Amino acid sequence: TLLEVVRTTASIMGSEAQKVFDAKDASSMLMELRGTFETGKTKSYEWRVSQLKSMLKMTEDCEKEIVDALHSDLSKSELESFVYEIAMLRSSLTLTLKELNRWMMSEKVKSTITTFPSSAEIVSEPLGVVLVISAWNYPFLLSLDPVVGAIAAGNAVVLKPSEIAPATSSVLAKVLGEYMDSSAIKVVEGAVPETSALLEQKWDKICYTGNGRVGRIILAAAAKHLTPVLLELGGKCPVVVDSDINIKVTTRRIIVGKWGCNNGQACIAPDHIITTKDYAPKLVDALKLELEKFYGKDPLNSEDLSRVVNSNHFSRLTKLLDDDKVSGKIVHGGQRDKTNLRIAPTILLDVPEDSRIMSEEIFGPLLPILTVDKIEDSFHMINSKEKPLAAYLFTNKKKLKEQFVRNVCAGGLLINDIALHLAVPTLPFGGVGESGMGSYHGKFSFDAFSHKKAVLYRSFAGDAPARYPPYSPGKLRLL
Ligand code: NAD
Repeated sequence: TLLEVVRTTASIMGSEAQKVFDAKDASSMLMELRGTFETGKTKSYEWRVSQLKSMLKMTEDCEKEIVDALHSDLSKSELESFVYEIAMLRSSLTLTLKELNRWMMSEKVKSTITTFPSSAEIVSEPLGVVLVISAWNYPFLLSLDPVVGAIAAGNAVVLKPSEIAPATSSVLAKVLGEYMDSSAIKVVEGAVPETSALLEQKWDKICYTGNGRVGRIILAAAAKHLTPVLLELGGKCPVVVDSDINIKVTTRRIIVGKWGCNNGQACIAPDHIITTKDYAPKLVDALKLELEKFYGKDPLNSEDLSRVVNSNHFSRLTKLLDDDKVSGKIVHGGQRDKTNLRIAPTILLDVPEDSRIMSEEIFGPLLPILTVDKIEDSFHMINSKEKPLAAYLFTNKKKLKEQFVRNVCAGGLLINDIALHLAVPTLPFGGVGESGMGSYHGKFSFDAFSHKKAVLYRSFAGDAPARYPPYSPGKLRLL
């Protein structure tokens, strides 16, 4: 009958046209989380520990599901997924569980003679309900590592994973729903409309990982509510290579830091190399040699290389390569496979500094090498550009290391290796200038999601009359 047809059509349309998560949904989700936060539940040490332990268990129970999702989103190798996403999250959780009690303790600090007698302390308190917006390149780790900090500090939290890694986003929504306390920890999946709906709300902190263009949108939205932000952005991470090095170790570390980390799609992957004119040919030869050892003669089919995340990024990267200013500068690689979204490890020599590839973050398997007359000139070259998230130097020279540390401005510096500073939780991880603001990892994550409350205790003793009006000249002399 006609009625049945209408009903069927309505039900098909209902199931197809999924309702978009809008500002009203975001507002009621936030209200629910605020309600939970206000009960004080998330503040207790026991709740924080139970949630962190539960997340740790999830990483064990669901390891295969996570690895499969990462493979589906980026064709990441199992080893890479395990080491850089799962194991790193586990070590963050283990450290937090071990140290949390100490981190939560108030810190006694000296007070002054002016307030004598008194005692002072700094009390870490949770900020409230925080929003974590994450990127696609390490979609598991970069979603959950900030959440670890948020929970450790006693907050309720909403996670918005990246829609560009949809399989991981959906696994995150599922497993967090199963393992975590859903009255305090929620996942919202989606893209710009959903994120915009979330950004209309008044959060107590927003942690955003991604690019600087969207970083500005986040900052503007946060400004409306005076919400503090942690922005983990990117940039063009330079690698300075001196001639006084162990060339084999250097090239192997550069290769694994560039192509072995998600095929260059990593925020701290080398963006370009700077070396001297004289040394460049030797470096290129050594890179070629080791690249072939790692990924064979047909790198487009290597299972150890991730693919480019999607066709937009594939065409962005191939445009960088096909730019007239750089297309003749390829000294290695350059092969591509549009169907499978693969680009071979590619080295370019002496690209002009005003080319597109040198004007934007590459975030893919292309590695330009720039040359300078003297290696010290590279420091000036780095400082003349936007501040990168990481800067690297390979050298044996003590003086050069000192100059690098003293003069080069970046989120973090690493000498004689690539990316490993990120694995040291006693170091803050974050950018400066265009590469971001604020930092996290280890105790810095706890601090990033805490308010440091200043508390001064006085007694009724030591009440100086000179403090109180009327302020006669005699009282002033007493002070
Ligand atoms: P992305 O496209 O996944 O975007 C990140 C998040 O922003 C997503 O959750 C997305 O939904 C949201 N978003 C996108 N457009 C938006 C809009 N108009 N309004 C509101 N939200 C929006 O990731 P990406 O930006 O392509 O990630 C790559 C960038 O992230 C690179 O610059 C990289 O260097 C940087 N990055 C930094 C770190 C770090 O720790 N500092 C880590 C990884 C990546």
